[in-house]
Amino acid sequence: MDNCIFCRIIRGEIPSKTVFENEHFKAMLDIGPASRGHVLIMPKEHYSNLFEMPEALAAEVLPLAQKIAAGVQKAFQPAGIKLVQNNGAMAGQSVMHFHLHIIPCYDGTEVGQWNPGSPSGEELDEVLAAIKEALA
Ligand code: 5GP
Ligand code: ZN
Repeated sequence: MDNCIFCRIIRGEIPSKTVFENEHFKAMLDIGPASRGHVLIMPKEHYSNLFEMPEALAAEVLPLAQKIAAGVQKAFQPAGIKLVQNNGAMAGQSVMHFHLHIIPCYDGTEVGQWNPGSPSGEELDEVLAAIKEALA
């Protein structure tokens, strides 16, 4: 998909903060995080949403989320971690390339519809390093 922003990130045309990748998936920091340590997992091939994904590929998502979320938990000790996966604009999907949100929740403050943060590059690098270290 030529003009899909996540495909462009995967092709390396747009920079991203990659916390983990394997043959089929990439996990990166969300550019407008709901909270510290907000990560997105996406397939390297373009599928618009969950329903377009081959079942075998979809089956890889949750074990990967378990691993990345454990890294986020270890790095930041949030009170909880929310997994969110929007399908379609009415469900809140704004980037039409499948992705799963891993959202740490702190101090009992529920993260629902979030206001995007605007962390500095240094803050994102700190978060990136902490999660990568925790996953190593
Ligand atoms: P959705 O609303 O589709 O479930 O979530 C899309 C997410 O992608 C949003 O949380 C948004 O902040 C994030 N996002 C949009 N564009 C970019 C980008 O260029 N880089 C990164 N790292 N995240 C992005
Ligand atoms: Zn795409």
